[in-house]
Amino acid sequence: MIRKISTSLLLTAVLATGLVASMAVAQEKKEEVLKQVLIKNVNIFDGKSDKLIMEQDVLIEGNLIKSIGTTVSAGPDVTVIDGDGRILMPGMIDGHAHVMINAHFDTVEKDMDLTDLSYRAKVVMERFLLDGFTTVRDMGGPTFGLRRNIDAGLIHGPRLFPSGGFISQTSGHGDFRDRADAGFSIKGCADLSNFERFGIGNVADGVPEVLAATRLNLRNGATQIKVMAGGGGSSRFDPIDTSQYTLEELKAIVDAAADWNTYVAAHVFNDRAVNRLLDAGVKTFEHGFFISEKTMKRIAKEGGYMVPQMWGLSPDLAKNPLMPKSKLPMIAKLQEDYGDFGKKLLNNKVKVVFASDYVGEFSDAERARRYELWWRTKAFGSNFEVLKQLTSTAGEMLAMSGPRNPYKAGKLGVIEEGAYADLLLVDGNPLEDITVLGGTNKWFDADPEFKLIPSIHLVMKDGNIYRNEIDGRLSPEAISYKEMRYEGIIESPGAPY
Ligand SMILES: [Zn+2]
Repeated sequence: MIRKISTSLLLTAVLATGLVASMAVAQEKKEEVLKQVLIKNVNIFDGKSDKLIMEQDVLIEGNLIKSIGTTVSAGPDVTVIDGDGRILMPGMIDGHAHVMINAHFDTVEKDMDLTDLSYRAKVVMERFLLDGFTTVRDMGGPTFGLRRNIDAGLIHGPRLFPSGGFISQTSGHGDFRDRADAGFSIKGCADLSNFERFGIGNVADGVPEVLAATRLNLRNGATQIKVMAGGGGSSRFDPIDTSQYTLEELKAIVDAAADWNTYVAAHVFNDRAVNRLLDAGVKTFEHGFFISEKTMKRIAKEGGYMVPQMWGLSPDLAKNPLMPKSKLPMIAKLQEDYGDFGKKLLNNKVKVVFASDYVGEFSDAERARRYELWWRTKAFGSNFEVLKQLTSTAGEMLAMSGPRNPYKAGKLGVIEEGAYADLLLVDGNPLEDITVLGGTNKWFDADPEFKLIPSIHLVMKDGNIYRNEIDGRLSPEAISYKEMRYEGIIESPGAPY
């Protein structure tokens, strides 16, 4: 009996000691105060409403928005920023970019290795962030390490959703082997294009190969899978009218992605290919300029997203100095036939996400992105619509990555309590004037040297300030990058699609 008591006493003592220890840990945790920033006196575009919410204060705690209101109470160590009546909006999201295809295709094939692309990608990402983009979905390339190092704080850049290498059939939109590389025998085509060698894309045929390619990307950290499902303008051996991959192959890719609780995005242009993709369960449709309204209705009904780069239908595309003259009549015809594509998407209630989708010298990509902001407001006829595409709708699309989403603590693309503190403070109202976000009607005639957009006064990502011109602080990297073009570059046309 005595022994029993003493044992239980001992147990109680041990438990009590444990309890004291865990209370101490809890106490320590409580004392770990999260950094607070209070942005006072702002008019909010919240990513969802076309009405500004006037004269608000926003408290950021750690990396999330803690509270929003006319009187918000903060701790004693809070950093206060006077918004002075500027617009506070969510950081912008690019739903379709190619941060690792940062040189012209021929240059990638002939003159570069993976380190060239990686170093340039660092600059691409810094410039994205300084332009107010706090999240980017990358649609083909080995951006896994880039994401890891951005998230670890070693490199400044937006949040990154990598697709890994895009998956393409032989002869498809991602088959970049030249004539000699591909050869004529399936056994003799061991030679890879740099696109494959570097992990920008994978040529895979048949169910076993597409499964392996999908699973390899998932293993490496893909947040979604990108498949090439039809012809394109930037590749050499696949005409624009073609459909690519059989239903069986597409279903295998979708199933493998679904097993990892994520989704598939597809490069596609025409009705036949989009409908096959819908049959397979694909969720986002990149480009898609030539689809009918019937297909648009089906996408809307089945909850899909369109992610088109509208500059592909712009008459200004013809001003690209690298564009072969032979392509000009085709561009003019496409513009004439599909000029109302954006407005038709809206009429058919399709959810649309912003895409810059430019490949080539990265100064060209930046110019294209700023041009796209301006041109898109014309193509859709509404600044509010384009702002939604850049914020809340894009955030909703990215959430389809489910457990593969590396940023699950809050919502992206909105200003609300509990959302990530990815914020811009802008001088001027983008609902009325897109130029305050850098939108411009200049494109190839714009200055290729990178200059900050003067009306974006503050860029915050994950609660950290990367650009702050309100109290004169500017991240040192901000203005030091000039256009990088190296000697002897082999110019090839920028991709129309
Ligand atoms: Zn693309």
